[in-house]
Amino acid sequence: MLEINNLFASVADKPILKGLSLAINPGEIHAIMGPNGAGKSTTGYVLGGRPGYEVTGGSVSFDGQDLLALDPHERAAAGLFLGFQYPVEIPGVSFVQFLREAANAQRKMRGEEPLSGGAFLKLAKEQAALLRMDMDMLKRPVNVGFSGGEKKRAEMVQMGILDPRLAILDETDSGLDIDALRICGEGINAIMRRPDKAVLLITHYQRLLDYVKPDFVHVLANGRIVRTGGPELAHQLEEQGYEAVVQEGA
Ligand code: ADP
Ligand code: MG
Ligand code: MG
Repeated sequence: MLEINNLFASVADKPILKGLSLAINPGEIHAIMGPNGAGKSTTGYVLGGRPGYEVTGGSVSFDGQDLLALDPHERAAAGLFLGFQYPVEIPGVSFVQFLREAANAQRKMRGEEPLSGGAFLKLAKEQAALLRMDMDMLKRPVNVGFSGGEKKRAEMVQMGILDPRLAILDETDSGLDIDALRICGEGINAIMRRPDKAVLLITHYQRLLDYVKPDFVHVLANGRIVRTGGPELAHQLEEQGYEAVVQEGA
């Protein structure tokens, strides 16, 4: 589904990704872990097509298409979803309005009819219930005054509505208390754990992986994957720290 091959990328002329390779098949859940500044968020941004993140080498294919040749909205329409480490606030735009625009923009790009008001509301209510999110919250401006946990749960509602094939989730667990962590984990499983979908979880800690069990765990350091293992690698990182594991893999 996703094949990243020897990817190099720079931000503000500073090389960050230095030969990153990773392949993800349908039905798989992958986790990328790594120290602060390793290039985890950069990986997500490059795959999502964020301006300012310049690819200087390598290739990425998504379902056989050259992902890097697509604009961000084309990547989304192709089935890619990027969850942000720091979701943005948008004063003046209600969450339901935002979600409906996003869902229908994506449908339009795929040549599908827009959802009717009723159909959209039904879908939004189902996804909100899955994330234990009150519909009244979604009538408020996007993320304005939301707690860290509410922002992440709202983002998972957005993911449920857009129904992507590949979700790249950047530190979805940061700022979550135990209950919100479990709710988000269960939401990710309910929405994404399907034979035709895949997830790339970017995380510092192993705790989210207790809920969303990865098939593969990768360690990113200095802009490359330096180790790959199963779920046990996340436990080893938690116990021994990144430094020991990165050196072992070097
Ligand atoms: P991680 O998510 O693994 O903590 P990031 O991908 O956010 O790491 O950052 C990787 C490196 O890129 C860091 O050293 C960071 O300081 C640098 N970086 C990120 N954005 C910029 C920017 N706009 N200008 C310069 N350096 C940046
Ligand atoms: Mg970080
Ligand atoms: Mg980051």
